[in-house]
Amino acid sequence: MPSNLIEAYKQGMLAYDQYHPQTIGLLWDAFRSELHEFYVKPSQDEAWDVFHSFGRLTWKLTGIPLFWLAKPTVEKHGRRFAESGCIRSARNCLGNCCQKDFNDESYFQ
Ligand SMILES: [Zn+2]
Repeated sequence: MPSNLIEAYKQGMLAYDQYHPQTIGLLWDAFRSELHEFYVKPSQDEAWDVFHSFGRLTWKLTGIPLFWLAKPTVEKHGRRFAESGCIRSARNCLGNCCQKDFNDESYFQ
């Protein structure tokens, strides 16, 4: 994986975590929602997303950064952040999940 994508991933997750402080409850919810997406529409891509969210949860619980093993998801988030300033897809960007939105003055209203 190109190191610039790894950097973009780190920055993107940092920005995301900044606006959504990741509690165990939120990480658990994220894992369950990825699992649901996989259940509704199974694909290899979704399977990596499930593993990535599982890795984020266990990282919080054990300090072991398992999520790095979910390379396709890490790469996907890194690429999105490099391109648009948000780790989420355009469809899923909630308008409150990234730096891009934070710089928007409407964020504060
Ligand atoms: Zn966003």
